[in-house]
Amino acid sequence: MEQSRTPAPELVVSGLEVVYSGAVVGLGGVSINVPSGSIVSVLGANGAGKTTLVRSITGLLFVHDGRIRDGSIRFGDTDLIGASASTTVRSGIAQVPEGRMLFPRLTVEENLQCGAATRRDRGEIAADLDVVYEQFPRLGERRDKVAGYLSGGEQQMVAIGRALMARPRLLVCDELSLGLAPLIVLELFDRLTELNERDGVSILVIEQNARVALARSHYAYVFETGKVVAEGPSAELQQDEFVQEAYLGGAGDARESYERIAARFRRGATA
Ligand code: ATP
Repeated sequence: MEQSRTPAPELVVSGLEVVYSGAVVGLGGVSINVPSGSIVSVLGANGAGKTTLVRSITGLLFVHDGRIRDGSIRFGDTDLIGASASTTVRSGIAQVPEGRMLFPRLTVEENLQCGAATRRDRGEIAADLDVVYEQFPRLGERRDKVAGYLSGGEQQMVAIGRALMARPRLLVCDELSLGLAPLIVLELFDRLTELNERDGVSILVIEQNARVALARSHYAYVFETGKVVAEGPSAELQQDEFVQEAYLGGAGDARESYERIAARFRRGATA
């Protein structure tokens, strides 16, 4: 996908404050960076503010009666404060939303085509569909099947493929691992790593699953009640005592642990 080969601009979120319904604090002044071509993860428990960050970046806060009270969000030269969702997509950001949000009665291919809705280069869309089918061969086999009947793992592949059809330079993945078996989660993260390494797509991973997020990202932030309480290179955070106790169940090596958990599911696991 050609556009994704151009370097991704840096995403810079600075001092972001968000309130819901004019009173409930969603974010209390967070700053995060996603440098060009990197994988950055944001970890945190329920209610930490992760989804609020995603909504702020993708221009969808208003749908939830949320408002940015202070701070800035820039993606290269584009100011994303007050930008519409379609402007955000055109700037090169695509989202894999929590819960996938597919059209269950449309086919796999129709869902994928939805991701290209803001594009005008109709001629290249068919070629990009083939690229998605190369990355996710199972979707190629099921292109005419109704999305609602796919397994959870396959639906998540459709959600990623749909985002890729927008030719993003930054992919924002919200709770990719939710409800999926560890082996499938690893497979999805493998695809993300390939996209990052081969095409230079930056990836912002929002995850409750700290093990896999730290194992597969370069840098990570930990959110608690709307604030950043820890940050650093992911390899260092894996060894951090606070992160281990609070998010890794006291594990010594998160990457190894996650691979081990996945191995237990290896036999008989289906996507
Ligand atoms: P989860 O994984 O449970 O979605 P999260 O880390 O994504 O957690 P957010 O959903 O961003 O957290 O929530 C941050 C804070 O904002 C919480 O206190 C939450 O109750 C509040 N909040 C989120 N959405 C709304 C809303 N639509 N109206 C009012 N408050 C909200």
